[in-house]
Amino acid sequence: MKLVFATNNQNKLMEVQKMLPSTIQLLSLKDIECFNEIDETETTLEGNASLKANHITTTFSYDCFADDTGLEVDCLNGKPGVYSARYAGKENNSEKNMNKLLHELKNSNERAAQFRTVIALNLKGKQYLFEGICKGEILEKKQGEKGFGYDPIFKPDGFEKSFAEMTAKEKNSISHRGIAIQKLVNFLTTLE
Ligand code: IMP
Repeated sequence: MKLVFATNNQNKLMEVQKMLPSTIQLLSLKDIECFNEIDETETTLEGNASLKANHITTTFSYDCFADDTGLEVDCLNGKPGVYSARYAGKENNSEKNMNKLLHELKNSNERAAQFRTVIALNLKGKQYLFEGICKGEILEKKQGEKGFGYDPIFKPDGFEKSFAEMTAKEKNSISHRGIAIQKLVNFLTTLE
C-alpha cells in the first residue's frame, strides 16, 4: 500500500517508515510532486490536520496522513495552541515566539502546559484521528540547545531537563508526536 505523509521533512518520513511493515510504502509531498504550500486556515489542530490530509486525497487521489501540533498553556486557556508557529506575529521565529510566551508568564506560578499532536489519516474513504499529549511546564528561562520550536522552555513532567536538553531518541520516546505516531503505526499494523 502507498500512503502519503504530508511532510517535506525526509527525516520525519524515514523515522515513521522504519516503524511500519514493509508492505506500507510512505511517500512525501515531493514524491507526489505537491509543491504548493497548504495553508493552515482552521482554528483547531484537528481542523488543520484534516484539511491537509483532505487536500492531498482530493487533489492527488492518495490515501494520506497529516499532522498538526500546538503548545497549550493552561493559564492562557490553551494558547498559543493552533497558532504556536506564528505566536509572535507575522515576523515570527522560535526565539520571538518563546520570548513572547516567557513575557506573558513573567512572575506567574501557573506554568502547566502540554504539547498536543493530532494526526488525521484518510484511508479508503474514511478519516481517523490520533492524538498524542505530553504534559509538562514552561520553564522560567531557556535551557538547552537541541531540538526546535519551544523545546528550550518546555520541561516534560517526570524529568529535570527541558526537551532541548534531551537526545532526539529520548524526546521521541515521550513526546506528543511520538505518542500520536505510535498510535497511527499500531492502527496501520493491525490492518495488515
Ligand atoms: P507543526 O504542526 O509540527 O508544524 O508545529 C507547529 C509549531 O508548534 C512549530 O512551529 C513549533 O513552534 C511548535 N512545535 C511543534 N512540535 C514541537 C516540539 O516537539 N517541540 C517544540 N515546539 C514544537
